[in-house]
Amino acid sequence: MPPGTDKDHCVVGVDFGGTKILAGVFGEKYECVGRARVSTKADRGVDEVIGRIARCVRESVDECDLNLKEIKAVGIGAPGAVDSESGHVIFAPNLDWNDVPLKNELEKQLDVPVFLENDCNVCTLGVYQIELKAKPRDVVGIFLGTGIGGGLIVEGNLYSGFNRTAGEIGHMVLEVGGPKCACGNKGCFEALASRTAIFRRIKQAVKEGQKTILTEMLGPELEDLRSGDLRKAIKRGDKFVEHVIEEAAEYTGIAVANVINVFNPEVIAIGGGLMEQLEDEMLAIIVETAMDYAMPGTAKGIEIIATKLGDDAGITGAAVLARRHVQ
Ligand SMILES: [Zn+2]
Repeated sequence: MPPGTDKDHCVVGVDFGGTKILAGVFGEKYECVGRARVSTKADRGVDEVIGRIARCVRESVDECDLNLKEIKAVGIGAPGAVDSESGHVIFAPNLDWNDVPLKNELEKQLDVPVFLENDCNVCTLGVYQIELKAKPRDVVGIFLGTGIGGGLIVEGNLYSGFNRTAGEIGHMVLEVGGPKCACGNKGCFEALASRTAIFRRIKQAVKEGQKTILTEMLGPELEDLRSGDLRKAIKRGDKFVEHVIEEAAEYTGIAVANVINVFNPEVIAIGGGLMEQLEDEMLAIIVETAMDYAMPGTAKGIEIIATKLGDDAGITGAAVLARRHVQ
């Protein structure tokens, strides 16, 4: 453990995703002093996955020569609809989970208080606490990745809504009759601008004969396509990929304008794997489109920024969640 870290204040933040679980031990100033990673293996069932989360927490704690008794609390961000009061994951389609009492099960295994939230809420909390030094009152986080999620901070606290599911920005409908979304609807923001939607568009166009540098880079099936490949293709002058990314950025800008009109936050922070790779290509278009579409006068002074927390947003935000509950 680094000198200066007070072990009386350590909490663990867990980023629980469909493919991997990350855990980080954080000291008082949110310095990460130990971390661990395991794969989720959702196909092995609920009990196995919960056991793997507990193992990941134990490994991260062991990594910095602490033991669980010294940990004040564990915060965890889970993918899907979460009831943070009961600590149940209500519905997580990527994991095939329905109504799982995750908080109670983990508390049984770890004997440490556990606090649960939706993953994008947790990331928004992390951005708010760590990145936004001016502590604006109202903040919206939007995360562009495999799907699109969001989180709302009102007066410095997470806003969860009547059924505690607020912040589903990815399922705002932007194109009536548009492409089908994983939620069953059509034309959701997520079905138009997530990494999944972008990859689907590119692969479909290639099938229909579209020329792109991506097939030179990855072969005709574009098998291992990643967000970083899109950036490389654009840098090499691929106009088709540039156009697809511009469109995704425009949809994101329209979503941001809707958020500004409805919610009028001081800051809108955009993150996620897609944004991390393509900030240079997307952010300016997002801002310009948002300003075009927001009602005149409503966007004045609002900051639209890219978050810098990257892959650590999940564990950091979960640590913030844990600390907020024990302080
Ligand atoms: Zn949807």
